[in-house]
Amino acid sequence: MAARILSGNAIRDQIYGELAGEIASLGAAGVRPGLAAVLVGDNPASKLYVNSKIAACGKLGLASFMLTPPASITTDELLALVDGLNKRDDVDGILVQMPLPPQVDAKKILDAVDPAKDVDGFHPINVGRLASGLPALVPCTPLGCVMLAKTVHASLTGFDAVVVGRSNIVGKPVAQLLLAENCTVTIAHSKTRDLPAVCRRADLLVAATGRPEMVRGDWIKPGATVIDVGINRVAGEAGKPKLVGDVAYDEAAAVAGAITPVPGGVGPMTIACLLLNTLRATCAQNGLAEPAI
Ligand code: NAP
Repeated sequence: MAARILSGNAIRDQIYGELAGEIASLGAAGVRPGLAAVLVGDNPASKLYVNSKIAACGKLGLASFMLTPPASITTDELLALVDGLNKRDDVDGILVQMPLPPQVDAKKILDAVDPAKDVDGFHPINVGRLASGLPALVPCTPLGCVMLAKTVHASLTGFDAVVVGRSNIVGKPVAQLLLAENCTVTIAHSKTRDLPAVCRRADLLVAATGRPEMVRGDWIKPGATVIDVGINRVAGEAGKPKLVGDVAYDEAAAVAGAITPVPGGVGPMTIACLLLNTLRATCAQNGLAEPAI
């Protein structure tokens, strides 16, 4: 049986609909959520990501502020910029687009963002709160992965979940979120022995390795839910570039119960979750109830 295709685009649009309602209610109460995006230099991929985040804010009626310091900025100058954003009342969420130029101490910058405005969920306070099972702003892509899985299974309790990849921005937070959903979680990585056998145990498999089509069809347990985080640009037909995930899609879709496509799976969820985090941060900073999304 062919797998159910989990369209991140469709689920994102559904979330946007719910967010628009919440934003309108806040507006009626005189509160307008604001997101500040810091884009250092002119990395084309970063520009594209930040522009799509700002466009999404405009679409949903959030205030957005784009700060574009030059690639020559120093750590101290960027710290001062972040400090200014921390103090602004019209800014509820701050994101500093990575990567930063080599002369900038990225860790210092991420640590300087007010944890209450840390809509990327990268500040050690939010990382620690997530790991402790406390309410936290959590990284957007991992949150999107879990939301996608929960469109297939209302409850993930008792699931064997395997997360391939242990990065701080994807693998580890996905694993923490799945643990909070009562999954039995295995985190696999480049030193894992017999990775195909580990993956075959998974009722829920999350692939976040950055290795194009590494996860093959015969690594998938029949009926499993497969969430492919990977975005890899490879040469397609006639040498034209195309995007593929970390999972060999056609092979996996023949075995899985549900699978995310690339593109159009996890990617769109990341931006939806950024806006959701901005709304959550706004509500928390204004002493309002959490949005019911
Ligand atoms: P990363 O920081 O490079 O981490 C990759 C992880 O994969 C590492 O933990 C690494 O293990 C593991 N790995 C690499 N090769 C492996 C192998 N052969 N077998 C098993 N594990 C292996 O990457 P990331 O930032 O987490 O991103 C992962 C992918 O997700 C990339 O394709 C990225 O573009 C994509 N991504 C997508 C979104 C989105 O919005 N859809 C957002 C973020 C990232 P070790 O720790 O042992 O080295």
